[in-house]
Amino acid sequence: MPPPPHASIGIALDEVDTPALVLDLDALERNVLRMTDAEKGSGVRLRPHAKSHKCAELARAAFARVRPRPALRRAVPPCAGLRFAGLHAYHGSVQHVRDPRERRAAIAAATEKARLTKTLIENSGIACETVTGAGTGTFMLESASRVYNEIQPGSYVFMDADYNRNVWEEGWPRFEQSLFVLATVMSAPSPGRAVLDAGLKASSVDSGMPLVHERPGVEYVRASDEHGVLKIAAGAKAPKLGETLLLVPGHCDPPVNLYECFVCMRKGKVEALWPVTARGAVW
Ligand SMILES: *Cc1c(COP(=O)(O)O)cnc(C)c1O
Repeated sequence: MPPPPHASIGIALDEVDTPALVLDLDALERNVLRMTDAEKGSGVRLRPHAKSHKCAELARAAFARVRPRPALRRAVPPCAGLRFAGLHAYHGSVQHVRDPRERRAAIAAATEKARLTKTLIENSGIACETVTGAGTGTFMLESASRVYNEIQPGSYVFMDADYNRNVWEEGWPRFEQSLFVLATVMSAPSPGRAVLDAGLKASSVDSGMPLVHERPGVEYVRASDEHGVLKIAAGAKAPKLGETLLLVPGHCDPPVNLYECFVCMRKGKVEALWPVTARGAVW
């Protein structure tokens, strides 16, 4: 039996049962627009990666403005049913390297390998229509490379605490936090400490603890199964018992897979509930 809904359309965000996965639709839409604007006129196709969100509604929103794929011209005859479309060259390990110069150097080297491989394939008489790859940390480099003609960033629709620690060069598009975990303060035992109803089963800690959104001096320091412990600096505004707080996940992909749906909000009100369509599917 499906669990009872923990939110309904039209209610205020602080009436939502917690923990809940919250999507700020205004921020999401600005992120989608910023990416499409950044790629406009570049001649590079945007194929937004879907493993972060696993959500049909969100894919529709992210794709709403992506040109159609051109038909592939060339087949590889020896394998019936298979068509050679091109190269997929994704440098995953460099996406979260903080220093933009290091990201530039790593992508320059990877791009050179992709270019060389494409040339070798073409020299053997096989058309290499597509060179695709890239993520949120480097897509602007692959896009400018003249080697890639498709990019596949995904996390930019949400962002997370870890991506926000990357250093971005002037002129590179910046994305906003749109994904949050809504949590309630369930205990405030002392002035310097509070406990939330959101622990390891509510957010991810593989890329560091979640951040408490727009609450300076309030730090999420420890996660257990069901609870998160907050440390409150002297002088900081202490969260009250029963208060709801927004957490910024350390890494956006894993928490999405923990929830039945996104509670989509605009200006503090629930506007839609989007099911995490591919939840539990491990791809
Ligand atoms: C995750 C992933 C992406 C998207 O990367 P983000 O960091 O989420 O932008 C692109 N390509 C592949 C193969 C991936 O696994």
